[in-house]
Amino acid sequence: MGELSTGIQFLSGVGPKRAALLQKELGLETLGQLIRFYPFRYVDRSGIRRIAELSADSATVQIRARVVSRTLVSVKHLSVVVEDESGRLELVFFKGVKWNYDRLEPGREYIIFGKLTDYNGKMNMVHPEIDVPQDGSMAQQVLTGVYPSTEKIRNSGITGKVMCRMQSAALSLCLPEIEETLPDYVIGEMGLVSLQYALKNIHFPKDSYALQKASRRLKFEELLFLQLSLLKQKYIRSREESGIVMPKVGQAFHNCYKALPYSLTGAQQRVIREIRSDMMSGKQMNRLLQGDVGSGKTMVAVLSCLIAAGNGYQSCIMAPTEVLARQHYQNICKYLEPVGLRCAVLTGSSGARERREIASGLEDGSIGIIVGTHALLEEKVKFHSLGLAVIDEQHRFGVDQRSKLWQKGSSGRPPHVLVMTATPIPRTLAMTLYGDLDVSVIDEMPPGRKPVQTLLTGQNRRNSMYKFLKAEIARGRQVFVVYPMIFVNDKLDISNVEQGYEDIMKAFPLNEGYKVAIVHGQQTNEVKNFNMKAFVEGRAHILVSTTVIEVGVDVPNASVMVIESAQRFGLSQLHQLRGRVGRGSEKSWCILVADFKTGKDARERLELLCRTQNGFEIAEEDMRMRGPGNLEGTQQSGLPVELNIASLATDGRLLNEAREYARKILEADPGLETPQNERLARELRKEGYDIKDYSKIS
Ligand code: ADP
Ligand code: MG
Repeated sequence: MGELSTGIQFLSGVGPKRAALLQKELGLETLGQLIRFYPFRYVDRSGIRRIAELSADSATVQIRARVVSRTLVSVKHLSVVVEDESGRLELVFFKGVKWNYDRLEPGREYIIFGKLTDYNGKMNMVHPEIDVPQDGSMAQQVLTGVYPSTEKIRNSGITGKVMCRMQSAALSLCLPEIEETLPDYVIGEMGLVSLQYALKNIHFPKDSYALQKASRRLKFEELLFLQLSLLKQKYIRSREESGIVMPKVGQAFHNCYKALPYSLTGAQQRVIREIRSDMMSGKQMNRLLQGDVGSGKTMVAVLSCLIAAGNGYQSCIMAPTEVLARQHYQNICKYLEPVGLRCAVLTGSSGARERREIASGLEDGSIGIIVGTHALLEEKVKFHSLGLAVIDEQHRFGVDQRSKLWQKGSSGRPPHVLVMTATPIPRTLAMTLYGDLDVSVIDEMPPGRKPVQTLLTGQNRRNSMYKFLKAEIARGRQVFVVYPMIFVNDKLDISNVEQGYEDIMKAFPLNEGYKVAIVHGQQTNEVKNFNMKAFVEGRAHILVSTTVIEVGVDVPNASVMVIESAQRFGLSQLHQLRGRVGRGSEKSWCILVADFKTGKDARERLELLCRTQNGFEIAEEDMRMRGPGNLEGTQQSGLPVELNIASLATDGRLLNEAREYARKILEADPGLETPQNERLARELRKEGYDIKDYSKIS
């Protein structure tokens, strides 16, 4: 009994030294942890190839060959020639020279496994894996697991083969003790294999079919527990905290809707229906609204506020910057003209008198919608009846800010919350990061928007690019030039933006009538706002900046977005920047300037951007290429729990199934208290699943 918690140093051949290394490098301490440490790929050792048939472009191959000779070229270079009945091949070792020299005896036959390299037209194999042919049971193992490892671990002699032996020993000790983690009804309904079978076959698959079964079972288990732990809070909360019920749509909504100068896109209509049904439901809404820049999220926000107004509640709309708040305010006022609802804007720069007026308007309920920045969160700001909070560009908001909003709800009940973001997060990731937020997506652009033509260019074409920019400016258009934010020793280094500004000033001199503004993160807010305003109001032709303009600024007259050192940006970020142009009716351009040294991978990423305008496609690709942890827009870059075997990038379908299944379980038994869910409750109590409540803190 208790083998699962036995330390791995007690496995034969491990000992305290190797155990300490495994703990330090891979976090493996107990046998239980070891058997949950899975191969990350498998090699198929079924086929033995003939040496004469091999070519350097074949993937990893396996041969069975006899050692002909071994030569110590130097202390750090061993050359071994092997042959089968078809031909000869050289094996090369630069590491483990002595050890390999001693074990590879001339005349003996070995199973040799590796990749061929072409060395000056001659083929050889560097550092192959070498087995002694056996006719025992291990030889029958067709698929062999390859485990994650590190250099230190390999150097300590824990090779892939040693790891396999450790797993095999651990499994035979532990398997009888392994308790099923999923209820029988889940296993039955989902058609899963048992945990014991899965663990055995994930390490030593009987065949590829068994491996597939094992992997599906383990992935589903992992994703199900992840979703259960995320959703559980939501179900418990919805039992405890009732939302504000808003049963009707109301006249304000209808008046605004009728007066719209355009008809809503299908996606906007769908999202509004989703929001409306949340607000009517009696549960508190917690919804993430994703939509590309320009997809019309503002309209959705306004109509949602009008539903609140129609039910006698106030709304607030929070924006991350002063500029954005004021821009929102102006747009919203236009929409509100036919409605006759009072709207106000509150930011850090609002004057004392203005503040007093707003405070009283909010307290007596005469202000229906308030737009603002963080200033809205101040304690002094009190609402008569706050029923809806809209948060724009959610990731700019800090940790405890959303909970401050919650406390401002009407008669102690939290307001409905709608979080809007233009950073498309792949659905799978959104579901994981915001497990208890419902996700709505506007995946359709208003008609008439012209795609932004995207070009990739190099430093050598700078002059012709400037010529092009001058032609656009001559046509009355404006230009963004964006530099990456670079940090040197944790400090924002603005030298590249400043240098860029000087270059642009030289190419676009004042005496020829060009006006250039610059905005970066080290300016005071006053200077920043002043320069930004010059561009927004059309007084400057070019705005040189760091990514501070990334968020929402609307300048329909800007037709060109130049992005310098484009290879330094993430794809999603580039896509967002590109969304700043193409907002007017004229054709727009995005020019990605890549440095000379840009590698092939980076170039391919940039080319993807030239090909597609679909933000979700780009986000998915970004996640595939960089891993989910590095995605922008997800400040909590790590996931709430580590995924061991499932991948958000490739297991989207299974994640959906797990999520739906978790919902079903919790709907029937929110506290996981019934006997049939006992196993689930037990697993969730184990450490690793105490997840932060993202809906309250993001
Ligand atoms: P987002 O906030 O999603 O970036 P906005 O709400 O600012 O986008 O909308 C971008 C522009 O599209 C605005 O000028 C808005 O008036 C316009 N717009 C929104 N919805 C529609 C629609 N259904 N048809 C035509 N134009 C629309
Ligand atoms: Mg917007």
